[in-house]
Amino acid sequence: MKRRSFFQILLGSSIASRFLPFSAVAAEPSLAQQGLSTPPPTGPFTLPPLPYAPNALEPYIDAETMTLHHDKHHAAYVNNLNKAIAPYPDLQKKSLEELLGNLDAVPAEIRTTVRNNAGGHSNHSILWKTLSNPGKKPEGKLAKQIDDTFGSYEKWKEEMTKCAMGIFGSGWAWFGRSKDGKLFIEPFPNQDSPLLTGRTPIYGIDVWEHAYYLKHQNRRADYVESCIESVGSFS
Ligand code: MN
Repeated sequence: MKRRSFFQILLGSSIASRFLPFSAVAAEPSLAQQGLSTPPPTGPFTLPPLPYAPNALEPYIDAETMTLHHDKHHAAYVNNLNKAIAPYPDLQKKSLEELLGNLDAVPAEIRTTVRNNAGGHSNHSILWKTLSNPGKKPEGKLAKQIDDTFGSYEKWKEEMTKCAMGIFGSGWAWFGRSKDGKLFIEPFPNQDSPLLTGRTPIYGIDVWEHAYYLKHQNRRADYVESCIESVGSFS
């Protein structure tokens, strides 16, 4: 028997299934065979679509970074959050504000996971929106309050830059509003959100390396300047 025909016979026989990897001779294992009785949860939280094409903010934020950041990083926060709260129907009814605003009501065994992933989901959802108004300056009442609080919009930009540059490791520089109506600029580690302290996030700069490393490598200053001067804004 020629070598080739021997293997052709072997592949078609039951002997093959004893020696070849499972996947080579059978259909994909069922969820039950994989130890999963139900598919991974697809809700209640969902990944919002990017409100523009991934290359819309080039040359400041490149399409590859935008795609990875949204489709992989943000998606992972949403998936991990849904997975964590899957066994807790009461938590599934809550909004991000309700989850993060009262973390003590979240069971201790998933509290850190919810803090990180609900925070990541909220932070990035705001990020895509605020990056979608290139060059737009704050107006009206908010513009006046920025002038009153920081001196001017230019001074506000300086404060945001200082905050973003001063963060050691991964985190966010957040501009937002406190319960008493006052504005603040403050560094937050990891995916912590101002919502954790009952405050409202308005505009954030993501200084995780995944937000800029492909294009800017270690030059965080270039990336922060791009965010503030060229593509990011709020109103
Ligand atoms: Mn990010």
